Amino acid sequence: MQKPQARYITALPENVVQCRLCPRKCRIPDGGRGVCGVRGNQGGAGIIPYYGAVTAAALDPIEKKPLYHYRPGSSVFSVGFVGCNLRCPFCQNWRISQNTGAPAQYFSPNDIICRAKAAGSAQIAYTYSEPLIHAEFLLDCMALARKSGIANVLVSNGTVADEAAEAILSLTDAANVDLKCHSEETYTQILGGDLSAAIDFIAKAWEMEVPLEVTTLVIPGLNDGDEEIQRCIDVLRSISPRIPWHLSAYHPDYTWTAPPTDPAHLVSIVRKARDVLSYVYSGNIAGEPNDTFCPHCNGLLVQRYGYHIERGGLSFKGNKYYCRYCGKPAPFRYI
Ligand code: SF4
Repeated sequence: MQKPQARYITALPENVVQCRLCPRKCRIPDGGRGVCGVRGNQGGAGIIPYYGAVTAAALDPIEKKPLYHYRPGSSVFSVGFVGCNLRCPFCQNWRISQNTGAPAQYFSPNDIICRAKAAGSAQIAYTYSEPLIHAEFLLDCMALARKSGIANVLVSNGTVADEAAEAILSLTDAANVDLKCHSEETYTQILGGDLSAAIDFIAKAWEMEVPLEVTTLVIPGLNDGDEEIQRCIDVLRSISPRIPWHLSAYHPDYTWTAPPTDPAHLVSIVRKARDVLSYVYSGNIAGEPNDTFCPHCNGLLVQRYGYHIERGGLSFKGNKYYCRYCGKPAPFRYI
């Protein structure tokens, strides 16, 4: 497959290029690669050798992304790529995110659309590793999906410069974005990221009215202290208390060996956050209620058992969801 030209690249003297796609702003010498490993320099020109390289493809419940307030109960054709611009030592998908040599098959945007249709899915999720570093493929695939009546779901760490953020979000129909912690020091020194870039991306997605949910993996000793959790709550509340927030239990993976999240601690954080934010859910632990209630009459709209849901409290008319008990609009989006 012919690879298109890399975008978000500035040519510098002596055959060096600078990538403007994410806040790392890598200066890449001739023959080199950026930190994410998927954007490089050949003879003074930016190259994207992994355009269309897909490492994983599966039909998933939308709840697995996790998205609880967008097309509840639907399935989404999900694709993953290689590489990541962060270096989270606890990455749960490190085999593809931290390894550009992971086995991959090359697909064109049209191949992906055809596969989604063949799987009976009206939506495609760009997920598993970090899709934003593949901005060129993402933009091509998202634009074609939109034209074909297929919705685009983005699952991302939100670490991208403004220039690309707006272009990608304008083609995004729903997003789940990580807020990995609320410590600039952890973001820069441990994850190789940028707290303010992630917060800006969340705020921009909300401002652009993209159906948005946020996920935080709760890691003992790293981001689960009372003050830090309170800062996460405060920043989400300042953008909107109506953003659904998923607090997921971590398990040891990649190079991080701290013990798994204590379910009782996770539940206590979820309960504290529910005092301030409207929709807070736990992830990766069994037995904790994760239901959604009507903000108007408190009727039970959606009951969840893992990825299985009962949505008897919802009615659906004209691509909009309503509460069956009081008839008012329910906090779910179709788009
Ligand atoms: S997208 Fe990759 S190459 Fe570009 S600045 Fe970020 S880490 Fe560097």
